[in-house]
Amino acid sequence: MTERWSPDSWRSKPIVQVPGYPDEAALKAVEEQLGTFPPLVFAGEARKLKRALAKVSAGEAFLLQGGDCAESFAEHRADNIRDFFRVVLQMAVVLTFAASSPVVKVGRVAGQFAKPRSSDVETINGVTLPSYRGDIINDSAFTAESRIPDPQRLLRAYRQSAATLNLIRAFATGGYANLENAHQWMLGFIKDSPQSGRYQEIAERISESLDFMRACGIDPEVHPELRTTDFYTSHEALLLGFEQAMTRVDSTSGDWYATSGHMLWIGDRTRQKDHAHIEFARGVKNPLGLKCGPSLKPDNLIELIDLLNPENEAGRLTLIVRAGSDKVAEVLPGFIRAVQKEGKNVVWSCDPMHGNTITANGYKTRPFDRILKEVTDFFAVHRAEGTYAGGIHIEMTGQNVTECTGGARAISDTDLSDRYHTFCDPRLNAEQAIELAFLLAEQLKK
Ligand code: PEP
Ligand code: MN
Repeated sequence: MTERWSPDSWRSKPIVQVPGYPDEAALKAVEEQLGTFPPLVFAGEARKLKRALAKVSAGEAFLLQGGDCAESFAEHRADNIRDFFRVVLQMAVVLTFAASSPVVKVGRVAGQFAKPRSSDVETINGVTLPSYRGDIINDSAFTAESRIPDPQRLLRAYRQSAATLNLIRAFATGGYANLENAHQWMLGFIKDSPQSGRYQEIAERISESLDFMRACGIDPEVHPELRTTDFYTSHEALLLGFEQAMTRVDSTSGDWYATSGHMLWIGDRTRQKDHAHIEFARGVKNPLGLKCGPSLKPDNLIELIDLLNPENEAGRLTLIVRAGSDKVAEVLPGFIRAVQKEGKNVVWSCDPMHGNTITANGYKTRPFDRILKEVTDFFAVHRAEGTYAGGIHIEMTGQNVTECTGGARAISDTDLSDRYHTFCDPRLNAEQAIELAFLLAEQLKK
Protein backbone atom coordinates (compact mmCIF):
# COMPACT_ATOMS: atom_id res chain seq x y z
CA MET A 1 0.00 0.00 0.00
CA THR A 2 1.25 3.47 -0.80
CA GLU A 3 1.74 5.81 2.12
CA ARG A 4 -0.32 8.96 2.50
CA TRP A 5 1.08 11.94 0.66
CA SER A 6 1.16 15.52 1.90
CA PRO A 7 3.12 18.53 0.60
CA ASP A 8 5.66 17.94 3.39
CA SER A 9 5.75 14.10 3.40
CA TRP A 10 9.09 14.33 1.53
CA ARG A 11 10.66 15.69 4.73
CA SER A 12 10.75 12.27 6.37
CA LYS A 13 12.59 10.65 3.43
CA PRO A 14 16.29 10.45 2.65
CA ILE A 15 17.40 13.32 0.44
CA VAL A 16 20.48 14.27 -1.58
CA GLN A 17 21.59 17.57 -3.14
CA VAL A 18 20.36 19.73 -0.25
CA PRO A 19 22.11 22.97 0.62
CA GLY A 20 23.29 23.41 4.21
CA TYR A 21 21.54 26.57 5.38
CA PRO A 22 23.34 28.12 8.35
CA ASP A 23 20.10 29.45 9.82
CA GLU A 24 17.22 26.95 9.60
CA ALA A 25 14.82 29.32 11.36
CA ALA A 26 15.42 32.04 8.77
CA LEU A 27 14.77 29.50 5.99
CA LYS A 28 11.53 28.40 7.63
CA ALA A 29 10.35 32.01 7.94
CA VAL A 30 10.98 32.60 4.23
CA GLU A 31 9.20 29.38 3.25
CA GLU A 32 6.21 30.44 5.33
CA GLN A 33 6.16 33.82 3.64
CA LEU A 34 6.37 32.20 0.19
CA GLY A 35 3.40 30.07 1.15
CA THR A 36 1.29 33.20 1.33
CA PHE A 37 2.39 34.57 -2.07
CA PRO A 38 0.22 34.25 -5.18
CA PRO A 39 0.70 31.22 -7.41
CA LEU A 40 2.88 31.69 -10.49
CA VAL A 41 0.78 29.36 -12.63
CA PHE A 42 -2.73 27.98 -12.38
CA ALA A 43 -3.87 24.39 -12.13
CA GLY A 44 -6.06 24.77 -15.22
CA GLU A 45 -2.99 25.69 -17.27
CA ALA A 46 -1.11 22.65 -15.98
CA ARG A 47 -4.08 20.50 -16.99
CA LYS A 48 -4.09 22.07 -20.46
CA LEU A 49 -0.40 21.21 -20.83
CA LYS A 50 -1.15 17.66 -19.70
CA ARG A 51 -3.76 17.36 -22.45
CA ALA A 52 -1.27 18.69 -24.99
CA LEU A 53 1.32 16.17 -23.79
CA ALA A 54 -1.26 13.39 -24.03
CA LYS A 55 -1.40 14.26 -27.75
CA VAL A 56 2.38 13.97 -27.88
CA SER A 57 2.26 10.54 -26.25
CA ALA A 58 -0.24 9.52 -28.93
CA GLY A 59 2.16 10.64 -31.68
CA GLU A 60 0.06 13.65 -32.69
CA ALA A 61 2.34 16.49 -31.61
CA PHE A 62 5.97 17.20 -30.72
CA LEU A 63 7.35 18.54 -27.43
CA LEU A 64 9.92 21.32 -27.64
CA GLN A 65 11.41 22.02 -24.21
CA GLY A 66 14.39 24.28 -23.71
CA GLY A 67 16.10 27.17 -22.02
CA ASP A 68 18.97 27.99 -19.73
CA CYS A 69 20.72 25.35 -17.69
CA ALA A 70 20.40 27.85 -14.85
CA GLU A 71 18.62 31.18 -14.88
CA SER A 72 20.55 33.89 -13.06
CA PHE A 73 19.76 37.09 -11.20
CA ALA A 74 22.44 38.94 -13.19
CA GLU A 75 20.96 38.14 -16.62
CA HIS A 76 17.37 39.07 -15.88
CA ARG A 77 16.91 41.38 -18.84
CA ALA A 78 13.97 41.89 -21.16
CA ASP A 79 16.10 41.35 -24.27
CA ASN A 80 17.31 37.99 -22.95
CA ILE A 81 13.77 36.81 -22.39
CA ARG A 82 12.61 38.16 -25.75
CA ASP A 83 15.50 36.59 -27.68
CA PHE A 84 14.94 33.25 -25.97
CA PHE A 85 11.21 33.36 -26.70
CA ARG A 86 11.90 34.33 -30.31
CA VAL A 87 14.21 31.37 -30.92
CA VAL A 88 11.64 28.99 -29.46
CA LEU A 89 9.04 30.45 -31.84
CA GLN A 90 11.43 30.06 -34.76
CA MET A 91 12.22 26.45 -33.87
CA ALA A 92 8.51 25.76 -33.51
CA VAL A 93 7.79 27.30 -36.92
CA VAL A 94 10.46 25.12 -38.53
CA LEU A 95 9.00 22.03 -36.89
CA THR A 96 5.38 22.90 -37.56
CA PHE A 97 5.90 23.94 -41.13
CA ALA A 98 8.59 21.54 -42.27
CA ALA A 99 7.21 18.51 -40.45
CA SER A 100 3.49 19.45 -40.24
CA SER A 101 3.54 18.65 -36.56
CA PRO A 102 1.89 20.75 -33.85
CA VAL A 103 4.51 21.79 -31.32
CA VAL A 104 4.04 21.96 -27.55
CA LYS A 105 6.34 24.73 -26.31
CA VAL A 106 7.77 24.45 -22.80
CA GLY A 107 10.54 26.71 -21.49
CA ARG A 108 13.16 25.89 -18.90
CA VAL A 109 12.33 29.33 -17.62
CA ALA A 110 10.65 31.42 -14.90
CA GLY A 111 11.86 29.12 -12.11
CA GLN A 112 14.88 27.16 -13.38
CA PHE A 113 17.29 28.27 -10.67
CA ALA A 114 18.36 25.36 -8.45
CA LYS A 115 21.18 23.12 -9.65
CA PRO A 116 22.25 19.62 -8.61
CA ARG A 117 26.05 19.33 -8.50
CA SER A 118 28.35 16.35 -9.03
CA SER A 119 30.46 17.48 -6.06
CA ASP A 120 29.55 19.36 -2.87
CA VAL A 121 32.77 21.33 -3.11
CA GLU A 122 34.83 23.05 -5.76
CA THR A 123 38.61 23.53 -5.64
CA ILE A 124 40.38 26.31 -7.52
CA ASN A 125 44.13 26.97 -7.08
CA GLY A 126 44.21 24.91 -3.90
CA VAL A 127 41.21 26.71 -2.35
CA THR A 128 38.18 24.52 -1.60
CA LEU A 129 34.72 26.07 -1.19
CA PRO A 130 31.13 24.75 -1.27
CA SER A 131 29.82 24.39 -4.83
CA TYR A 132 27.58 26.96 -6.47
CA ARG A 133 24.03 25.52 -6.42
CA GLY A 134 22.15 28.08 -8.47
CA ASP A 135 21.10 31.67 -7.73
CA ILE A 136 18.09 30.57 -5.67
CA ILE A 137 20.60 29.10 -3.17
CA ASN A 138 24.00 30.84 -3.25
CA ASP A 139 26.20 33.06 -5.41
CA SER A 140 28.57 31.82 -8.10
CA ALA A 141 31.45 34.14 -7.10
CA PHE A 142 34.33 32.08 -5.72
CA THR A 143 34.43 33.44 -2.17
CA ALA A 144 33.47 31.74 1.09
CA GLU A 145 30.86 34.42 1.78
CA SER A 146 29.16 34.03 -1.63
CA ARG A 147 28.79 30.31 -1.31
CA ILE A 148 26.79 30.43 1.95
CA PRO A 149 23.14 29.49 1.18
CA ASP A 150 20.91 32.53 1.77
CA PRO A 151 17.12 32.04 2.24
CA GLN A 152 16.41 35.57 0.96
CA ARG A 153 17.34 34.23 -2.48
CA LEU A 154 14.13 32.17 -2.56
CA LEU A 155 12.11 35.38 -2.44
CA ARG A 156 14.21 36.96 -5.15
CA ALA A 157 13.85 33.90 -7.38
CA TYR A 158 10.09 33.95 -6.85
CA ARG A 159 9.85 37.61 -7.84
CA GLN A 160 12.11 37.19 -10.86
CA SER A 161 10.05 34.19 -12.00
CA ALA A 162 6.87 36.26 -11.70
CA ALA A 163 8.34 39.09 -13.79
CA THR A 164 9.73 36.72 -16.41
CA LEU A 165 6.44 34.89 -16.69
CA ASN A 166 4.58 38.17 -16.99
CA LEU A 167 6.65 39.17 -20.01
CA ILE A 168 6.35 35.72 -21.58
CA ARG A 169 2.58 35.78 -21.20
CA ALA A 170 2.55 39.20 -22.89
CA PHE A 171 4.69 37.95 -25.76
CA ALA A 172 2.60 34.80 -26.16
CA THR A 173 -0.78 36.48 -26.28
CA GLY A 174 -0.15 40.19 -26.95
CA GLY A 175 0.71 40.05 -30.65
CA TYR A 176 4.43 39.22 -30.69
CA ALA A 177 3.76 35.54 -31.41
CA ASN A 178 1.40 36.36 -34.30
CA LEU A 179 2.46 34.19 -37.26
CA GLU A 180 2.32 37.35 -39.40
CA ASN A 181 5.53 38.27 -37.56
CA ALA A 182 7.44 35.14 -38.55
CA HIS A 183 9.73 37.35 -40.71
CA GLN A 184 10.50 39.80 -37.91
CA TRP A 185 11.56 37.04 -35.53
CA MET A 186 14.65 36.76 -37.73
CA LEU A 187 16.32 39.93 -36.50
CA GLY A 188 19.79 40.61 -35.20
CA PHE A 189 22.96 38.60 -35.52
CA ILE A 190 21.19 35.59 -36.91
CA LYS A 191 20.13 37.39 -40.08
CA ASP A 192 23.38 36.62 -41.87
CA SER A 193 23.67 33.15 -40.41
CA PRO A 194 23.95 29.99 -42.49
CA GLN A 195 20.40 29.02 -41.39
CA SER A 196 18.73 32.28 -42.31
CA GLY A 197 18.03 31.41 -45.98
CA ARG A 198 16.21 28.22 -45.05
CA TYR A 199 14.29 30.00 -42.34
CA GLN A 200 13.30 32.95 -44.57
CA GLU A 201 11.93 30.47 -47.10
CA ILE A 202 9.59 29.06 -44.47
CA ALA A 203 8.57 32.54 -43.30
CA GLU A 204 7.81 33.40 -46.94
CA ARG A 205 5.61 30.32 -47.33
CA ILE A 206 3.77 31.21 -44.12
CA SER A 207 3.06 34.72 -45.48
CA GLU A 208 1.79 33.21 -48.71
CA SER A 209 -0.46 30.82 -46.78
CA LEU A 210 -1.91 33.68 -44.74
CA ASP A 211 -2.47 35.72 -47.94
CA PHE A 212 -4.16 32.71 -49.49
CA MET A 213 -6.46 32.36 -46.47
CA ARG A 214 -7.37 36.03 -46.74
CA ALA A 215 -8.09 35.68 -50.47
CA CYS A 216 -10.44 32.83 -49.64
CA GLY A 217 -12.28 35.06 -47.17
CA ILE A 218 -10.72 33.64 -43.99
CA ASP A 219 -9.41 36.41 -41.78
CA PRO A 220 -6.31 35.12 -39.92
CA GLU A 221 -6.77 37.93 -37.41
CA VAL A 222 -9.86 36.33 -35.94
CA HIS A 223 -8.17 32.97 -35.37
CA PRO A 224 -6.40 32.94 -32.00
CA GLU A 225 -4.29 29.93 -33.08
CA LEU A 226 -2.53 32.19 -35.58
CA ARG A 227 -2.26 35.28 -33.43
CA THR A 228 -1.26 33.82 -30.07
CA THR A 229 0.57 30.78 -28.81
CA ASP A 230 0.50 28.52 -25.76
CA PHE A 231 3.77 28.66 -23.90
CA TYR A 232 4.43 26.75 -20.70
CA THR A 233 7.11 26.94 -18.00
CA SER A 234 9.12 24.16 -16.38
CA HIS A 235 12.04 23.60 -14.06
CA GLU A 236 13.77 20.90 -12.06
CA ALA A 237 11.90 20.34 -8.78
CA LEU A 238 15.09 20.30 -6.75
CA LEU A 239 14.68 22.79 -3.90
CA LEU A 240 11.78 21.08 -2.21
CA GLY A 241 11.21 23.68 0.53
CA PHE A 242 10.49 26.19 -2.22
CA GLU A 243 8.28 23.72 -4.12
CA GLN A 244 6.32 22.82 -1.00
CA ALA A 245 5.64 26.49 -0.26
CA MET A 246 4.29 26.95 -3.81
CA THR A 247 2.10 23.82 -3.68
CA ARG A 248 -1.58 24.58 -3.25
CA VAL A 249 -4.97 22.87 -3.43
CA ASP A 250 -6.74 23.72 -6.68
CA SER A 251 -10.22 24.95 -5.87
CA THR A 252 -11.71 23.45 -9.05
CA SER A 253 -10.52 19.86 -8.66
CA GLY A 254 -9.51 19.72 -4.98
CA ASP A 255 -6.14 18.33 -6.10
CA TRP A 256 -2.65 19.50 -5.12
CA TYR A 257 -0.70 21.40 -7.76
CA ALA A 258 2.78 22.85 -7.70
CA THR A 259 2.15 26.44 -8.76
CA SER A 260 5.85 27.26 -9.27
CA GLY A 261 5.68 26.16 -12.93
CA HIS A 262 3.47 24.18 -15.29
CA MET A 263 5.73 21.16 -15.58
CA LEU A 264 8.31 19.93 -13.07
CA TRP A 265 10.99 17.37 -13.66
CA ILE A 266 13.11 15.13 -11.46
CA GLY A 267 16.84 15.24 -12.17
CA ASP A 268 19.03 12.25 -12.88
CA ARG A 269 20.76 12.65 -9.50
CA THR A 270 17.60 12.77 -7.37
CA ARG A 271 15.45 9.97 -8.84
CA GLN A 272 16.01 7.38 -6.06
CA LYS A 273 12.61 5.70 -5.67
CA ASP A 274 12.46 5.90 -1.85
CA HIS A 275 13.88 9.43 -1.61
CA ALA A 276 12.36 12.85 -1.02
CA HIS A 277 12.23 14.13 -4.62
CA ILE A 278 10.15 11.25 -5.96
CA GLU A 279 7.95 11.45 -2.85
CA PHE A 280 7.22 15.14 -3.46
CA ALA A 281 6.61 14.76 -7.19
CA ARG A 282 4.19 11.84 -6.94
CA GLY A 283 1.66 13.93 -5.03
CA VAL A 284 1.28 16.94 -7.31
CA LYS A 285 -0.93 16.66 -10.37
CA ASN A 286 1.27 18.70 -12.75
CA PRO A 287 2.80 17.05 -15.78
CA LEU A 288 6.13 15.58 -14.70
CA GLY A 289 9.43 14.86 -16.36
CA LEU A 290 11.89 12.19 -15.28
CA LYS A 291 15.50 12.41 -16.41
CA CYS A 292 16.71 8.96 -17.45
CA GLY A 293 20.49 8.62 -17.48
CA PRO A 294 22.54 5.60 -18.55
CA SER A 295 22.77 4.22 -14.99
CA LEU A 296 19.00 3.73 -14.78
CA LYS A 297 17.91 0.10 -15.07
CA PRO A 298 14.71 -0.75 -16.98
CA ASP A 299 13.05 -2.41 -13.94
CA ASN A 300 13.85 0.62 -11.81
CA LEU A 301 12.33 2.80 -14.53
CA ILE A 302 9.09 0.82 -14.29
CA GLU A 303 9.05 1.20 -10.47
CA LEU A 304 9.46 4.95 -10.89
CA ILE A 305 6.69 5.10 -13.50
CA ASP A 306 4.38 3.20 -11.13
CA LEU A 307 5.13 5.71 -8.36
CA LEU A 308 4.81 8.83 -10.50
CA ASN A 309 1.93 7.76 -12.71
CA PRO A 310 0.03 4.96 -10.96
CA GLU A 311 -3.09 5.57 -13.04
CA ASN A 312 -1.15 5.47 -16.30
CA GLU A 313 -2.59 8.82 -17.32
CA ALA A 314 -1.45 9.99 -20.78
CA GLY A 315 0.47 13.29 -20.63
CA ARG A 316 1.36 12.93 -16.95
CA LEU A 317 4.89 11.62 -17.46
CA THR A 318 7.64 12.57 -19.91
CA LEU A 319 10.75 10.41 -19.91
CA ILE A 320 13.68 12.66 -20.73
CA VAL A 321 16.44 10.34 -21.88
CA ARG A 322 19.96 11.81 -21.51
CA ALA A 323 22.22 8.88 -22.19
CA GLY A 324 25.03 10.42 -24.25
CA SER A 325 25.71 10.04 -27.95
CA ASP A 326 27.84 6.94 -27.32
CA LYS A 327 25.29 5.18 -25.10
CA VAL A 328 21.81 6.05 -26.31
CA ALA A 329 21.63 3.24 -28.88
CA GLU A 330 22.69 0.83 -26.16
CA VAL A 331 20.36 1.85 -23.29
CA LEU A 332 17.25 3.24 -24.99
CA PRO A 333 15.95 -0.08 -26.41
CA GLY A 334 15.89 -1.52 -22.87
CA PHE A 335 13.87 1.44 -21.60
CA ILE A 336 11.44 1.29 -24.51
CA ARG A 337 10.88 -2.47 -24.32
CA ALA A 338 10.17 -2.34 -20.57
CA VAL A 339 7.70 0.51 -21.05
CA GLN A 340 5.99 -1.20 -23.99
CA LYS A 341 5.78 -4.55 -22.19
CA GLU A 342 4.05 -2.88 -19.22
CA GLY A 343 1.78 -0.81 -21.49
CA LYS A 344 2.81 2.48 -19.92
CA ASN A 345 1.74 5.80 -21.43
CA VAL A 346 4.73 8.11 -21.65
CA VAL A 347 6.15 10.89 -23.77
CA TRP A 348 9.63 10.00 -25.01
CA SER A 349 11.85 13.05 -25.08
CA CYS A 350 15.54 13.31 -25.96
CA ASP A 351 17.95 15.46 -23.91
CA PRO A 352 21.06 15.39 -26.11
CA MET A 353 22.93 17.81 -23.84
CA HIS A 354 23.68 16.23 -20.48
CA GLY A 355 25.36 13.04 -21.67
CA ASN A 356 27.71 14.93 -23.99
CA THR A 357 29.58 17.37 -21.78
CA ILE A 358 33.37 17.48 -22.14
CA THR A 359 36.11 19.90 -21.11
CA ALA A 360 38.06 21.74 -23.81
CA ASN A 361 40.46 24.59 -23.32
CA GLY A 362 39.40 24.76 -19.67
CA TYR A 363 35.70 25.20 -20.55
CA LYS A 364 32.81 22.78 -20.11
CA THR A 365 31.44 22.36 -23.63
CA ARG A 366 29.34 20.09 -25.83
CA PRO A 367 30.30 19.30 -29.41
CA PHE A 368 27.36 19.99 -31.71
CA ASP A 369 28.00 16.85 -33.76
CA ARG A 370 27.61 14.68 -30.64
CA ILE A 371 24.34 16.44 -29.85
CA LEU A 372 23.09 15.74 -33.38
CA LYS A 373 24.26 12.14 -33.17
CA GLU A 374 22.35 11.55 -29.95
CA VAL A 375 19.20 13.00 -31.55
CA THR A 376 19.61 10.93 -34.73
CA ASP A 377 20.25 7.73 -32.77
CA PHE A 378 17.27 8.47 -30.51
CA PHE A 379 14.98 8.71 -33.54
CA ALA A 380 16.54 5.62 -35.16
CA VAL A 381 15.97 3.49 -32.04
CA HIS A 382 12.35 4.62 -31.84
CA ARG A 383 11.82 3.78 -35.49
CA ALA A 384 13.33 0.34 -34.94
CA GLU A 385 11.15 -0.27 -31.86
CA GLY A 386 8.00 1.10 -33.49
CA THR A 387 7.56 3.87 -30.90
CA TYR A 388 7.24 7.63 -31.24
CA ALA A 389 10.16 9.96 -30.55
CA GLY A 390 8.00 12.73 -29.15
CA GLY A 391 10.21 15.51 -27.93
CA ILE A 392 13.49 17.31 -27.45
CA HIS A 393 14.87 18.83 -24.23
CA ILE A 394 17.74 21.26 -24.75
CA GLU A 395 19.81 23.92 -23.05
CA MET A 396 19.75 26.96 -25.29
CA THR A 397 19.71 30.74 -25.31
CA GLY A 398 18.66 33.39 -27.79
CA GLN A 399 22.03 35.06 -27.40
CA ASN A 400 25.02 34.70 -29.69
CA VAL A 401 27.14 32.78 -27.17
CA THR A 402 30.08 30.47 -27.81
CA GLU A 403 29.50 27.65 -25.35
CA CYS A 404 28.92 24.55 -27.52
CA THR A 405 31.50 23.82 -30.22
CA GLY A 406 30.64 23.11 -33.88
CA GLY A 407 27.50 23.99 -35.79
CA ALA A 408 27.36 25.73 -39.16
CA ARG A 409 29.81 28.40 -37.98
CA ALA A 410 32.18 25.74 -36.66
CA ILE A 411 32.83 27.25 -33.22
CA SER A 412 36.22 25.86 -32.18
CA ASP A 413 37.74 25.10 -28.78
CA THR A 414 39.67 28.36 -28.93
CA ASP A 415 36.48 30.35 -29.73
CA LEU A 416 34.86 29.25 -26.45
CA SER A 417 36.41 32.09 -24.46
CA ASP A 418 34.81 34.75 -26.76
CA ARG A 419 31.29 34.74 -25.37
CA TYR A 420 31.07 32.05 -22.69
CA HIS A 421 28.32 33.40 -20.43
CA THR A 422 26.52 30.43 -18.91
CA PHE A 423 26.17 30.13 -15.14
CA CYS A 424 26.20 26.37 -15.34
CA ASP A 425 26.17 24.08 -18.39
CA PRO A 426 26.99 25.14 -21.99
CA ARG A 427 23.96 26.10 -24.11
CA LEU A 428 23.23 26.03 -27.82
CA ASN A 429 23.22 29.54 -29.23
CA ALA A 430 20.30 30.75 -31.35
CA GLU A 431 21.82 29.61 -34.65
CA GLN A 432 22.72 26.18 -33.34
CA ALA A 433 19.20 25.80 -31.90
CA ILE A 434 17.61 26.60 -35.26
CA GLU A 435 20.03 24.29 -37.05
CA LEU A 436 18.94 21.55 -34.66
CA ALA A 437 15.28 22.33 -35.43
CA PHE A 438 15.92 21.71 -39.14
CA LEU A 439 17.54 18.38 -38.34
CA LEU A 440 14.58 17.46 -36.12
CA ALA A 441 12.16 18.38 -38.89
CA GLU A 442 14.01 15.99 -41.22
CA GLN A 443 13.79 13.22 -38.64
CA LEU A 444 10.10 13.84 -38.00
CA LYS A 445 9.30 13.60 -41.70
CA LYS A 446 10.94 10.15 -42.04
C1 PEP B 1 19.80 19.76 -16.08
O1 PEP B 1 18.81 19.51 -16.79
O2 PEP B 1 20.34 20.89 -16.03
C2 PEP B 1 20.41 18.63 -15.32
C3 PEP B 1 21.16 18.82 -14.25
O3 PEP B 1 20.14 17.45 -15.88
P1 PEP B 1 20.34 15.95 -15.37
O4 PEP B 1 19.53 15.82 -14.12
O5 PEP B 1 19.81 15.14 -16.51
O6 PEP B 1 21.82 15.75 -15.16
MN1 MN C 1 22.23 21.50 -17.21
